[in-house]
Amino acid sequence: MKVYNFSAGPSVLPEVVLKEAQRDLLDFNGTGMSITEMSHRSKPFMAVNEEANALLRELMGIPEDYSVLFVQGGASQQFAAVPLNLLVNGKADYLVTGNFAQKAYEEGLKYGDMAVAASSKDANYTFIPDMDSVKFRDGIDYVHMTSNNTIFGTRFTSLPKTTAPIVSDMSSCILSEEVDVSKFGLIYAGAQKNIAPAGLTIVIVKKELLGKANPLCPTLLNYAIHDKNDSLYNTPPCFPIYTALLVFRWLKAMGGVKVIQKINEEKAQMLYDFIDNSSLYTNSVNKKDRSLMNVPFVTGSAELDAKFVAEASKAGLVSLKGHRLVGGMRASIYNAMPVEGVKALIDFMKKFEMENK
Ligand SMILES: *Cc1c(COP(=O)(O)O)cnc(C)c1O
Repeated sequence: MKVYNFSAGPSVLPEVVLKEAQRDLLDFNGTGMSITEMSHRSKPFMAVNEEANALLRELMGIPEDYSVLFVQGGASQQFAAVPLNLLVNGKADYLVTGNFAQKAYEEGLKYGDMAVAASSKDANYTFIPDMDSVKFRDGIDYVHMTSNNTIFGTRFTSLPKTTAPIVSDMSSCILSEEVDVSKFGLIYAGAQKNIAPAGLTIVIVKKELLGKANPLCPTLLNYAIHDKNDSLYNTPPCFPIYTALLVFRWLKAMGGVKVIQKINEEKAQMLYDFIDNSSLYTNSVNKKDRSLMNVPFVTGSAELDAKFVAEASKAGLVSLKGHRLVGGMRASIYNAMPVEGVKALIDFMKKFEMENK
């Protein structure tokens, strides 16, 4: 049975992409070889690597003076790579708006004088601090933020007011809405939420920030090395890069980020409206800060939540269990989740509410 998969990550991919990947897993472009069997320095793979890079640039409108790197290690590896590459004065400020943001900060502490400029931890991360009133220290090398907080279902709708480079973890929102890349010094994202299978991490970095890495920075975490070698310094995650290319083509054919953003806004609006008007479900996130990608909700009873998750799963709506830090349910509605999937979820929620009054 084909299900609607609401997993937070690794997550749903477009069905057409999976079918193409299935075909190319046996014979890529008539080469008689699987895409997974060929050298990363072979002509067919180099073409994949180049086109994926160019298409991501096109889709996000990435300016010329930025490098796009395809690396490994997940977003979590970037928690260390960022300070190892960008700390020149030895200090940076962090906006702690969720669990991953906290982890990024803690990892950063190993490398420099890091400070929490603002946090919503005391309110269980249910809001994003007001960017107009957050102050940063002088002389910092960057401000670190997490554009979309996957576990808590919040997102930034404005940027920190700072002249320091802004570094953002966009793992769970990259390509979901338009972003002005020129406002950032560095953007990173694990691909497994909105782009590809696990194994690929995307780094978009302003070129002027390259070449200042800590001498102890491992070669493979050094952005300048990856930049110089077109992300082929060592074997890259070939299959995720190839799948990313298929997803980029899919997104472009649909009309690009502007079009998917509109669809994402509609999907999220539908779900939040339903939750807000229901007498069973609640979402406790500050309305203005609600995520377009991850929608947590609870019934108010842990027992009923468990029943919901189990029955939804039987009805073909899977991976709705909330993160253990939040409990309840979480519907991740990434780019590849069709509108019909969200409608099916809402229909199920209505039925469940009727049956459990
Ligand atoms: C999933 C996620 C991570 C962790 O990514 P890994 O690839 O597992 O290291 C970090 N930050 C955010 C915002 C995420 O959603």
